[in-house]
Amino acid sequence: MLLNNIQTLKDIEFKNKRVFLRVDFNCPLKDGEVSDDTRIKAALPTLNYLLQEGAKVVLGSHLGRPKNRKDIQFSLAPVAETLQKLTDLDVIFVDDPLSDAPSALVKTLNESKVLLLENLRFSTDEKEKTGKLASKIGSYTDIYINDAFGVCHRSDSSVVAFPEVVKERAAGFLIEKEIQALSQVKEEPKRPFGLILGGAKVSDKLPMIDTLMEKTDVFVIGGAMAFTFLKAKSVPVGSSLVEDDLVHACKSIIKRLEQRGKKLFLPEDFYVADSIEDTKATLSGFVPESKMGLDVGPRTIDTYLKALGECETVLWNGPMGVFENPAFESGTKSLCEGLSKMSSKRIVGGGDSAAAAVKFKGEFDHVSTGGGASLAFLEGRNLPGLEALRIKRKELLEKTRYTLETLSDEELEQSEAEGRPFDKNSPYNLKSDVKKPYDSKKSFGSNQTFNAKETGYGQKRDESNFGSSTESTQPKPPQTTQTIINKTTIRRSAVKKPPEES
Ligand code: AMP
Repeated sequence: MLLNNIQTLKDIEFKNKRVFLRVDFNCPLKDGEVSDDTRIKAALPTLNYLLQEGAKVVLGSHLGRPKNRKDIQFSLAPVAETLQKLTDLDVIFVDDPLSDAPSALVKTLNESKVLLLENLRFSTDEKEKTGKLASKIGSYTDIYINDAFGVCHRSDSSVVAFPEVVKERAAGFLIEKEIQALSQVKEEPKRPFGLILGGAKVSDKLPMIDTLMEKTDVFVIGGAMAFTFLKAKSVPVGSSLVEDDLVHACKSIIKRLEQRGKKLFLPEDFYVADSIEDTKATLSGFVPESKMGLDVGPRTIDTYLKALGECETVLWNGPMGVFENPAFESGTKSLCEGLSKMSSKRIVGGGDSAAAAVKFKGEFDHVSTGGGASLAFLEGRNLPGLEALRIKRKELLEKTRYTLETLSDEELEQSEAEGRPFDKNSPYNLKSDVKKPYDSKKSFGSNQTFNAKETGYGQKRDESNFGSSTESTQPKPPQTTQTIINKTTIRRSAVKKPPEES
C-alpha cells in the first residue's frame, strides 16, 4: 500500500479482470509519427505486469491540446503503431471511445492483445466531466489503474471521474516510483540538502521554496528567476526578465534564509545578448543596461557545483538559461554534467529540467515525468489524481474484514517475524501487504515476451466492425499497420512538441 490508502499493483488480483490503464502517451509527434517514445516505454513495466497477471487491458491517454474531434494532428494512432512495434502486442485502436466498440472488444483481449482508445481529449467530456466518458468506461471496467503521473495535478475526467465508477483502483509502477522518490525529498531528504531552482518565473517556484525552506541547506538559483532575486539585492539586471511585483517577496525570502543560516547562491557571471533569439552570447561579469542575461557563466557553475558537491541530496528544478538555444545552453549543460558525476542522491523535477537532462544525457537517480505534478507534489498540495485513487474507508473496512477471515496463522506469524505485527483492529493491515511486500529490485518489462502477432492491429478502423466481437476464426493474412489505420486521415504536417503535461 502506497502513501495512505493508495493501492499499488501488487495489492490487486488481475486474473481475467478488465482493466482501464490511464497512461501518459502525450508524446511529441513529427510528420505524423512519434518522434520520442520515452513515455510509451515508461508505461511498459505496468502494462507488461498487468498482461502477465492475466488482465484484459484497455489503454487511454490524452495527447496535446486538441480543440475538437477533428484535430486529427493530435490523434493517438501513431502511438498505437509505436506501441505495437515496441511490444509485439496486437494493438487494437478504437477511434471513438464513446462508441460500443470497447465494451464489445474487451472480451477478446488477452496477454498479447490490448485496446488503445483515441485521444480522450477529442471528447469535450474529458475536461467538462459530464459523466459521459466515465459511465462508458465504467460499463466495461473492473479495475482502474493510473500510471500517468504527469496529469495527476489535473482534474480531468480520466483522472478523477473514471476511478469513481470502478470496483478497485490503484497506482501503477510509474506513479509508485514518482511518489517514493519525491516523498523522500519532501519528507526526509538526507542532509545537507541542496535545492537548485531555475526557469522563467519566480512565481511558479515560490510555494516550493516555502515548503522546502526548513529542510534545505543550500539554495542555488539560476535562470530568469535569478534576476528578480538579484534586483531584490539591488544588483543591476539590464533588460533581463524580472517579475517586478515579486521583488519584495524575494527580499523577504533572502532575509528568512539569512536568519536561518541557509546558504543562498546567485549568479556571478552571465551570458548576455540582445534577445532570446540571438545566436551569439557575450560572457560578462554583470548584465549591461541594454542587454538580457540569458544564461549563467562558468564561474557561477563552478561555485554552484562546489556547494552542491557538499550535499547528500540534490533536487533540480528549472534550467539555468535559455537552454533550447545553443547560444545559451552552456550553464544548464555544465550543471547537468557536473550533477551527473556526483555520488549524492539527485532528483530532477519534470518539465524543462527533465528535457534538459535528456538533451545533455544526464545521469540521475530519478527524473520526474511530471513538471506541474512534481511541483504541486513538492509544494505539498493534494493532487486530484492521487486523491481519486485513495480507497474509501468503507472499502478499506470491507477489505480488512475479508483479510481477518482468510489470513492464516502462518501469514500472521510471518508478518510478525518481519517486524510488522498484524494488528487485528487496524484497517491498514491488508492481506496483500503481508503476502507481497514491495520488491523494488524486481524489474518488469525487460524480459517479457509475448506472442507476437503478425496481423497488425487486427481490426479495421471502420465503425461497422465495432459493436460486436470481430474476432475472426479464419487465420488472418499478415497485414501492415498501414492497412489498419487509415493514415491518409492523419495530417502529416510537422506537429510541434505537445506541452509536457496538461
Ligand atoms: P520554467 O517552466 O519556469 O521552468 O521555465 C523554463 C523556461 O525558462 C525555459 O524555456 C527557458 O528557456 C526559460 N529561461 C531560462 N532562463 C532564462 C532567462 N535567463 N531568460 C529568459 N528565459 C529563461
